[in-house]
Amino acid sequence: MPKKTATGQVPAVKLSLRGANRLKAAHPWVYRSDIETGGEIPPGSLVQVTDQRGKFLGTALYSSSSQIAIRMISREEVADLSTLVVERIRAAIGSREKIVTNTDAYRVVFSEADFLPGLIVDRYNDVVSVQILTQAMDAEAVRTAVVETLAEKLKPAGIVERVDARIRELEQLPPRKSGLLWGDKSSTVIEMNGVRFYYDGLEGQKTGAFLDQRETYAAAAQYAHGDALDVFCYQGGFALHLAGRCSSVVGVDSSRPALEVAEKNAALNGRELEWIEGNAFDLLKDYAAAGRQHDMVVLDPPAFAKTKRDIDKALRGYKELNLRAIKMLRPGGILVTCSCSHHVSAADFLEVVADAARDAHKTLRLLENRGQAKDHPIVLNIPETGYLKCLILAVS
Ligand code: SAH
Repeated sequence: MPKKTATGQVPAVKLSLRGANRLKAAHPWVYRSDIETGGEIPPGSLVQVTDQRGKFLGTALYSSSSQIAIRMISREEVADLSTLVVERIRAAIGSREKIVTNTDAYRVVFSEADFLPGLIVDRYNDVVSVQILTQAMDAEAVRTAVVETLAEKLKPAGIVERVDARIRELEQLPPRKSGLLWGDKSSTVIEMNGVRFYYDGLEGQKTGAFLDQRETYAAAAQYAHGDALDVFCYQGGFALHLAGRCSSVVGVDSSRPALEVAEKNAALNGRELEWIEGNAFDLLKDYAAAGRQHDMVVLDPPAFAKTKRDIDKALRGYKELNLRAIKMLRPGGILVTCSCSHHVSAADFLEVVADAARDAHKTLRLLENRGQAKDHPIVLNIPETGYLKCLILAVS
């Protein structure tokens, strides 16, 4: 049950004019500075939100610690959060049944984009991974409802929770360890686009694999030829998709544990690839100095701009990487270049790559302008839900 006040009522919160206007534009977040009154509200409560005149605007989840104090969950009154969460998880699963193909690994629930702020659920074949990011979703009754619904609808062999210690600290939630929430299986093998990967729910970065690139892996594979270089390859997502069509593929990453899994993934698919542990910036510089040429280069770096302040530095990073890659490509070569920094807009990213092409005196033809896979939906009113940009370009 959601926490209630002593009278059993859902607490009310009154917003400033700015806060109310934000909600009218259908963005679900309200910052603490836009709350006018509310009294003492228990962490993670359901709250009824009103404008300055007391007009009811909807029901929200309250966080006592985040700057985003209010996350709207409905324009209606909501009596019980667990019941609503169950309905929304079922709807999210239903939508994936319509849009996800060629894979047994996909994002089942994408937080605000599935109207479940603070809940992320990924399916990896028979293992389901859950992340809980807000006080409201961490309530025991909500956790139980989430696990029971996923167990019933997806029938996995195990459900694991991946804990982000920093987020729990920011949300003032007690520390927890990643681990099994249900069943007995935390690792498995997944298959996407006919390529197989090991998945370990209790290891790896983020939720363990980069599901958001699934459709771009398949798109990139269509253009694959000659010798390819997959820079920032992690566990080999792009590299293994290209391997079937390329004469050679080299993957580069600074993380040894990621490359160890990449090597195992290659063996799982009966492929032999070369993996190089190193700093991508240094390696591309050395390759350029040595005059190395490739037919395909993939650039999929980590987010360079974690905040707005980092944007200029991030753009310089993208420029340098793309310039080196473009110079290295033979005529007819293919560049697959990605940015997962939300703060770098699609237009800025396109411009930085165009700038690199000008500096390299090369012509880039845009073959595909892509984003995150469909199971990571973007809500237009919530720009924060869109973050991944991927361009596929032919160089001449
Ligand atoms: N392309 C991958 C995902 C890449 S995530 C996929 O599809 O699965 C970004 C990767 O960049 C991580 O594996 C991280 O270890 C690596 N990385 C971060 N900084 C790096 C650097 N300076 N040089 C090389 N790799 C780096």
